[in-house]
Amino acid sequence: MRRLVLFDLDGTLIDLDAAFALWAEEFAEEHRLGHKGVDHLIKLNRDGLPHRELFFAKVRERFRLSTPAASLWAAYRRRMPRLVKCRAEVMTGLAELRAAGWRVGIITNGTPDNQMAKLQRTGLAEAVDGYAVSGLEGIRKPDVGLFEIAAQRCGMRLAEGGWMVGDTLAADVEGGRRAGLRTVWIDHTVRPGEEHPADHAVSDVMQAIALLHEYGSRS
Ligand SMILES: [Mg+2]
Repeated sequence: MRRLVLFDLDGTLIDLDAAFALWAEEFAEEHRLGHKGVDHLIKLNRDGLPHRELFFAKVRERFRLSTPAASLWAAYRRRMPRLVKCRAEVMTGLAELRAAGWRVGIITNGTPDNQMAKLQRTGLAEAVDGYAVSGLEGIRKPDVGLFEIAAQRCGMRLAEGGWMVGDTLAADVEGGRRAGLRTVWIDHTVRPGEEHPADHAVSDVMQAIALLHEYGSRS
């Protein structure tokens, strides 16, 4: 039996925070912002600014940089794909899911240049059956339309059911539920016992992959 699983990219298959910390070090060095500058960038990132355009507007203002925010953001998008990594065990985990009959897809919100370069440089683009990038499709998670596109790229339809694995409750879990999928929330903060709308909550994507194998062997 064919089964579908869609994974979010940032913070799910790749550790975006680790790559961001590397980027912050480089950026602070380049603009001579010092250690406090690095801390400020990381804090600003942790505060979850919804859009990088806004993030770089704040950065530019805070550090009185002369480079336009749009140029800072463009440089960030060129650099980040070189800093992100997908762990070898995650790549193996995805291959094993596919070998066990799962159709594996990636569904991600972001700009085409940044997200495509991340998918290609990590090898993830070749490691899955299909992917959907919001910036390329003109539609974002949690919109069901992007889930449908990702499913189709994997040769499946949402109506056949499946799973969504991701670290953002609104985009991944709520979006996945609305798309009729079962959901696994990657909760990086690990707050046991906390109420959440996902079918399962785990702290790392490897646990999600193990869970899918277990489900696959039962059904
Ligand atoms: Mg994410």
